[in-house]
Amino acid sequence: MAEPLTILNIGGHPKDAILYAGGTMAKHAARGDHVCIMTPTTGLSHHLAAIKEYRDSGEMPNMGDLVAERKRELVDAAAELGVSDVRFLGYNDEIMLPREDMISDIADIIGEIRPNVIVTHWPYDTVPAHAVTTQMTLLAIDAASGIRPGKPYAPTGGDTGGEAAQIFYHTHVGRTNVLENLTIRIPTTVIDITDTIHQKATAMNKFTSQHYGEDSPLQRKLSEGMDGTGAATHLRVSYAESFVAHNPEVYEYLPVSEYRRKLSKRSPEEVLRAMTRMEL
Ligand SMILES: [Zn+2]
Repeated sequence: MAEPLTILNIGGHPKDAILYAGGTMAKHAARGDHVCIMTPTTGLSHHLAAIKEYRDSGEMPNMGDLVAERKRELVDAAAELGVSDVRFLGYNDEIMLPREDMISDIADIIGEIRPNVIVTHWPYDTVPAHAVTTQMTLLAIDAASGIRPGKPYAPTGGDTGGEAAQIFYHTHVGRTNVLENLTIRIPTTVIDITDTIHQKATAMNKFTSQHYGEDSPLQRKLSEGMDGTGAATHLRVSYAESFVAHNPEVYEYLPVSEYRRKLSKRSPEEVLRAMTRMEL
């Protein structure tokens, strides 16, 4: 096998890195790749349980406790995927704007772990924390490829800067509106996550501050809708996460994946079984 990859998987809010790429991360962790999950924000403005409590009681909750809870949820969820490297930068997401200190923190992580692959939100996602996180990540990649006095230095490895050979953007829409309909995301890269869908489900159910949990149908509904249809159905697998590659990939020869060739050898019955399988 090739040298293990180092993957930096970023979500604007704590749960996003897992919601959009958790199944893929579980596969890479199991293969022996180094996966780091990072979120710049506390995600506190979206602590839905606390918002409801505040609305009902009129009493402001203890913000420190809520931040600790959100961090614990992410650490627990990552552990379900076999990922122990979790970076929770802890910035307020009440009003999300690119900030130099956040960009510098992200650049520090890039300089430290030197990711070969960065996974993050679609740059034009209409959820502000998502798009801003990607803008900051691109700025951080550039910063990390230069000299930063006293800071970890990631040598330039191409036009993405740093050693990030590739950046993958999520393809799922953050909010459905006319802007997003005008910029349709056509996946370049689809990962079959059928064998990690239960791990992803267990991980997502750790986010109880956002109405996930074993007793809640939210995870099942979202995952069947997001991972179980779309790209999965078109490519004849049961569950998939899909991405858009930032750079065209470079090969020595025209590429067809071994996995795709294996899938194409299935019988029509096996294909139908894969397409219609529901695990959740
Ligand atoms: Zn989010």
